[in-house]
Amino acid sequence: MATMVRRLRDALGAALLALCLFGCVHAPARNPLAQWVPSPNSGPREPVLVVIHGTAQDSVQQSLETLRGSNSGGPVSAHYLIGRDGKLFQLVAESERAWHAGEGSWGTISDVNSASIGIELDNDGYEQFSDAQIQALLVLLDDVCRRRNIPRSRVIGHSDLAPSRKRDPGPQFPWQRLAQAGFGLWPAADRGEPPAAFDGYLALKALGYPMQDRDAAVRAFHLHYRGLESDQAMLDAEDLRLLHALTRD
Ligand SMILES: [Zn+2]
Repeated sequence: MATMVRRLRDALGAALLALCLFGCVHAPARNPLAQWVPSPNSGPREPVLVVIHGTAQDSVQQSLETLRGSNSGGPVSAHYLIGRDGKLFQLVAESERAWHAGEGSWGTISDVNSASIGIELDNDGYEQFSDAQIQALLVLLDDVCRRRNIPRSRVIGHSDLAPSRKRDPGPQFPWQRLAQAGFGLWPAADRGEPPAAFDGYLALKALGYPMQDRDAAVRAFHLHYRGLESDQAMLDAEDLRLLHALTRD
């Protein structure tokens, strides 16, 4: 009898330990300091932005390990990872905050991780993105934007929100193709000339670029809208035409 009681006690202890291991990772939903008087008028906080990344690694396997572990800056993750063959992996639930954006901002959003879905693309940082991978990305973007009610224009690159630190998804990323499918922004072809008083830096800010480092914002704009990666940090006439077309409505 005593053995049976001991076994029962041990089993109960193990069950409690397991519960704690799985249940104590997150802060409790209810604050024990307060009396819980639930209101039905609430819901999960919703992401309002999608951030595209390139892994700058050699394989999906390597990135699956990094995105469940850490890189040189500490623990990292993303909601999704898409292989070169188009295979789609999910690492973090969309309702959870993944650690993909780091320091940066977009418009009024200063904590990008809390406000976004992060999608990593397996890519070494310089190669072309495969058709299968972009097709899979378009299907995923359609799904996420539809379910989450995220405006399709609010799809940006990591380099856009963190221009002084990041270059991914890089100059090879096909932003124009994404825009043709309805995601992100792209200037109209018949854009005309901007007025003489047009301020390109104000236009960059209006798009969402962080402007603490203006040169970096210009370089990020070149990456995204011209596929250019260089040290050029001045807005030229073509930049002004593009920025005017992107912001005139
Ligand atoms: Zn990134």
